[in-house]
Amino acid sequence: MMHHILGLRCLICGKLYQPDEVTYVCPDHGDDGTLDVEYDYAQIRSQLAANPPDWARQGMFAYRPLLPVAETTAAPPLHIGATPVYDAPRLAATAGVAQVWVKDDGRNPTASFKDRASAIAVMKAAERGAEIITTASTGNAAAALAGIAAATGQKTVIFVPASAPQAKIAQLLTYGATVLLVEGSYDDAFELCLKATHAFGWYCRNTGYNPYMSEGKKTVTFELYQQLGLEMSPISNLQSPISNFPTHIFVSVGDGCIIGGVYKGLRDLVGLGLLPQMPKLMGVQAAGSSYLYEAWRNDEDVVTKAPIAANTRADSISAGLPRDRIKAMRAIRETDGAFVQVSDAAILAAIPKLAQHSGVFAEPAAAAAYAGLLQAAADGQVGPSDRVALLITGSGLKDVAAAITAVSQATTIKPTLAAVEQALNL
Ligand SMILES: *Cc1c(COP(=O)(O)O)cnc(C)c1O
Ligand SMILES: [Zn+2]
Repeated sequence: MMHHILGLRCLICGKLYQPDEVTYVCPDHGDDGTLDVEYDYAQIRSQLAANPPDWARQGMFAYRPLLPVAETTAAPPLHIGATPVYDAPRLAATAGVAQVWVKDDGRNPTASFKDRASAIAVMKAAERGAEIITTASTGNAAAALAGIAAATGQKTVIFVPASAPQAKIAQLLTYGATVLLVEGSYDDAFELCLKATHAFGWYCRNTGYNPYMSEGKKTVTFELYQQLGLEMSPISNLQSPISNFPTHIFVSVGDGCIIGGVYKGLRDLVGLGLLPQMPKLMGVQAAGSSYLYEAWRNDEDVVTKAPIAANTRADSISAGLPRDRIKAMRAIRETDGAFVQVSDAAILAAIPKLAQHSGVFAEPAAAAAYAGLLQAAADGQVGPSDRVALLITGSGLKDVAAAITAVSQATTIKPTLAAVEQALNL
């Protein structure tokens, strides 16, 4: 039983279900009927007061009272979350803002943010007694599921678009996942995975379909809060704005699950009386995959807006039909934030810029957050008094080929000192 959960609410019709009434989506709204988990904050407040979260030791499971899992379900044995936050003054100077914090989620066990969600997936699969866990992914969600399932000894079947980067496919196979390379797009792989889920009774991790993935992802917000020195053991309600918390959080957006999760974390903090005012969430999309940017700019309804053809080098944010689009749009609207779009050229250029000014090597989709900050700064959406957090969602080692295109070639020399002098003009 999960006594701290009030229910799962359909974001289309508003109907509230008990956790054991539904598995994935609102039965009245089919695959689009995204559900949002609602909690009993009064109960959670007393749990947090009795046991303040120790993120440094427990990572994301420091926040168990705020997670949709039963008390008796074992957490996977990998150390997930507790990723570092760096103060990056040179990035702040370049963007013309007061402060930039870099939250390096590439430091997770499988080198991306997706570990936070896949950890919940393996726990929910265990609660349901499912033998096989499945997902469709452009790479990172699958790698996270495969890696964490390898740690717990669960089996996975993974649908990946055949175009996914080699490093990501290699990671899946190395962890022992059964990998099916689908001749088609991410959206094709996603639909096929849903069919297989229904046909074979597997547990499905798919983003936007499984309501619990954004719940795992929200733990990044709690970490950021604690790592910036704020206390998560409620004593009194905070009233005044917090000066050491971001005014803007930049998150790259494909399906929209991460930004929906970051928002959910903020909402939980508000519900717990720990956050008087939410930062603005800034969703960064690749110009070649900008469904949500378009919908936001043109005020379109994402429940009915048709898919677009997605094409971007930032494979992790390539999504023709963002599966968590309802939660993503809510995140932007309810924080008075914005969507920003950036070209592939700007994304690739952001990889070495971010690395050289912060020491953090990001894959294209992760560097997109920084490209988005530069764009927003150029457009006047952020300025000298703003404090910015950049969520760096995946390691640059995930897609070395993309990084190589963005940097100059190294010089080849003979093994002599004279050659060094010549090469460096000494
Ligand atoms: C999945 C992913 C994203 C985007 O997350 P969504 O939930 O699909 O919006 C961004 N960056 C990286 C590295 C990812 O793996
Ligand atoms: Zn519904």
